[in-house]
Amino acid sequence: MKTTPSDLKQYRAQLKDALGNEFLGKTLETFTDIICQRRDTCFENMDFAALAAEVGRMKDAALPRLMELYAQFKEQAEAAGAQVHFAATAAEANRIIAGIAEQASVKKIVKSKSMTSEETFLNPHLEGEGFKVVETDLGEWIIQLRGEGPSHMIAPAIHLSRQEVAELFNRVIGGDRDPDDIAGLVQVAREQLRQEYLSADMGISGVNFAIADSGTMGLVTNEGNARLVTTLPRVHVALAGLDKLVPDLDTALKIVRILPRNGAGQIISNYVTWIRGANECATGPEGKKEIHFVFLDNGRLALAADPVFGEALRCIRCGHCANVCPIYDKVGGHNYGHVYIGAIGLILTYFYHGRENARALVKNCLNCQACKANCAASIDLPRLIKKTAGLILDQEPRRPAKNQLLAHVLKNRKLFHFILRNAYLAQKPLAKGDKVIRHLPSFFGPEHGFRSLPVVARRPLRERWPALVTAEASPRHRVALFGGCLIDFVYPEQAEALVGLVKGRGVQLDYPLAQTCCGLPAQMMCEEDTAREVARQNLGALDPAKYDYILTLCASCGSHLKENLPKLLAGDPGLAAKARQMADKVIDFSSFMNDVLGVEPTQGETGPKLAYHAPCHLCRGLDVHRAPRDLIQAAGYDYAPYADEEVCCGFGGSYSLEFPEMSAAILGHKLDQVEATGAEILVSDCPGCVLQLSGGLDQRDSPIEVLHIAEALARAGLKPAPDKS
Ligand code: SF4
Ligand code: SF4
Repeated sequence: MKTTPSDLKQYRAQLKDALGNEFLGKTLETFTDIICQRRDTCFENMDFAALAAEVGRMKDAALPRLMELYAQFKEQAEAAGAQVHFAATAAEANRIIAGIAEQASVKKIVKSKSMTSEETFLNPHLEGEGFKVVETDLGEWIIQLRGEGPSHMIAPAIHLSRQEVAELFNRVIGGDRDPDDIAGLVQVAREQLRQEYLSADMGISGVNFAIADSGTMGLVTNEGNARLVTTLPRVHVALAGLDKLVPDLDTALKIVRILPRNGAGQIISNYVTWIRGANECATGPEGKKEIHFVFLDNGRLALAADPVFGEALRCIRCGHCANVCPIYDKVGGHNYGHVYIGAIGLILTYFYHGRENARALVKNCLNCQACKANCAASIDLPRLIKKTAGLILDQEPRRPAKNQLLAHVLKNRKLFHFILRNAYLAQKPLAKGDKVIRHLPSFFGPEHGFRSLPVVARRPLRERWPALVTAEASPRHRVALFGGCLIDFVYPEQAEALVGLVKGRGVQLDYPLAQTCCGLPAQMMCEEDTAREVARQNLGALDPAKYDYILTLCASCGSHLKENLPKLLAGDPGLAAKARQMADKVIDFSSFMNDVLGVEPTQGETGPKLAYHAPCHLCRGLDVHRAPRDLIQAAGYDYAPYADEEVCCGFGGSYSLEFPEMSAAILGHKLDQVEATGAEILVSDCPGCVLQLSGGLDQRDSPIEVLHIAEALARAGLKPAPDKS
């Protein structure tokens, strides 16, 4: 049975091997590019987010009723001549299916693709009981011949080249096939599998929908093999997770609108099949087919009742959370999942396949939010991934030293800031008078050398502030700047650029000095109590009632304050309302400048060529897309767009320290694209992204200069529009 390393070092070694596989990287990139383009085209003129939210609501409504829906399905299906079974565990499902096969004197079984049967490891069980099992989906058949599991939920053999497939066919079937003759390879499969359908006694399928009020199952497929599997053999077994139960056909049809679009970039799949009851079958007893439904719990009922993790059961298995994930894009499903692949796989592995298989895997998330933004069922996948990691951490005998240290230091603002100030002195020998540290101390290991690190500022923003800002005579906007650790202690010049931009334009800027880290690093390390404590301190430092806006130059701080703060303090009667008030007033720099103040476009010659990197927490976390691009153009830069502007840079805070090889690979992809634009300047609206991008470019000896967007606008002399009130 498959195992995924629980030890982080071993898991990282596995990832490193995958990153070294050039063919895999190229194949995945091509596949995800094509599927994402096709998918986006399918949703043109449709409100994807509204449809996904509706699917989420429908699935949520079914969760407390799963056993009621099961009973209704059973009654209806049995009235139509089917037999319905309940399996509490994966092993029980396998035993039930083997028992059905034995009772019906089955020798050969054909199967269509079923992730639930992968979850139960059904094939090895049936083969161990002496049955011949043949997968009939082309990709599944190929990986079965190779003795592998799927590497994608809907494209199981996407990790293989045609050369590997041709070699496999030559070895297993004989002959000497031309790997370039794709039609010929498909024909091999067709010929081989046709004989298997005709001689099989039993067909096993999965289920996309189990419709309770009619006892009907629905299957959404592309190859037609599922129709042959469910119709030709005299016995049909359909294996369904309990989460596939829906109350009625209307619900199923709503899901059919989004499933093929999101999963395969198709408006509708080639085949949508509905099966109800024991249909006619020439070789079946009394001319009828023997049909069984096996419903699998395997933890689903407990999950459905869980107020946090129940959301995972909304999943309709479209597979798209893998396609948009920058980590999947680099290493593929065999390294980014256990049985279930991609973001949802990181969560379900813990619940269906145990803590050990999930322990290292669940840490492998950048929190880039791409999966959440593209989920067909509107699941907050990054949040559940972090919660799953937290559950696992809570079961460790002791918390890692780095977590204990972080919790201790972050809770004590004065100590934290003392350490940051003194880091300036400690780093001096490493920086050797330069603005960056190019060679880290050896205990970091060579894998961390993919980026240079910025030096800590000699004087933090909090020391510079009193001399920076003067009182506005008649302020239009009362604004508190939330600096965040990087702006305050590493990049105070980014805040200085902001101050210069808004000076004299009716903006009264405050920098409350008792503010501290936003708490996102603690949340990312599953230290929720620390994140909560820090949130309390920030609310004590910065009373939102006194301001019109809480302005951030850091998209990560902004998105954390807006989204996570109210959740962290929801149970605190003294602070919940204040946290919501703060969240409502949080605004990012670009939106404030472009949408609140408005700008006067600069006149004159076009400026230098400039590329933009959209921080994950700005474009997805805060849903800001237009404002920074408008500003760049208003400032007169020669804006040079590229394909993956909104794809993560690989920073992810502590992620880049925990998974440096992955971080470097994702950064490398981004920088290749930026360099190809010919840009002289690269801007972003997050100091974390600036750190990662500038560090990577420095290691490449690239002449491209990396700036915060506020610095680029200040350099171009962009001004807010004058107050006309
Ligand atoms: S948040 Fe980003 S890195 Fe994490 S699983 Fe989702 S897409 Fe992948
Ligand atoms: S979690 Fe969402 S995106 Fe991922 S497979 Fe499930 S429905 Fe699709």
